[in-house]
Amino acid sequence: MDVRNCRSCGAMFQYNGYGPPMCANCRKKLDESFLKVRQYLKDNPDASINELAESAEVSIPQINQWIREERLIFSKNSSVQIPCESCGKMIRTGRYCKDCKDTMIHSLGGDKKGVVAEPQKPSGSSKARMRFLDH
Ligand SMILES: [Zn+2]
Ligand SMILES: [Zn+2]
Repeated sequence: MDVRNCRSCGAMFQYNGYGPPMCANCRKKLDESFLKVRQYLKDNPDASINELAESAEVSIPQINQWIREERLIFSKNSSVQIPCESCGKMIRTGRYCKDCKDTMIHSLGGDKKGVVAEPQKPSGSSKARMRFLDH
């Protein structure tokens, strides 16, 4: 049994092994906040991350996390963008830009189509990631 302290309220709870370490109450609250944020974004497609955080009283890192998880998707008109975790290019949702995703799919799929030009990779981390993908 994996008993932990809730990240949000500090209460002891039984951790089920996946997702953020939060008790059932806080998870439920977070889900409700997410629905609020999503509704707010629907009504205000131009809203900034700040506004979204205020609208549902959640933290800005939490909003960022939802963007990374592709749970929040911004319209083309929105000014909200986050940097690709690999190359730093500004993107609207997810963790990586399209180019980096393509590169990753190629390295996963054994490079069947043949990559014409290797996009620049940040030094250091890419090797470790390749090894991880190769197992
Ligand atoms: Zn809690
Ligand atoms: Zn990228």
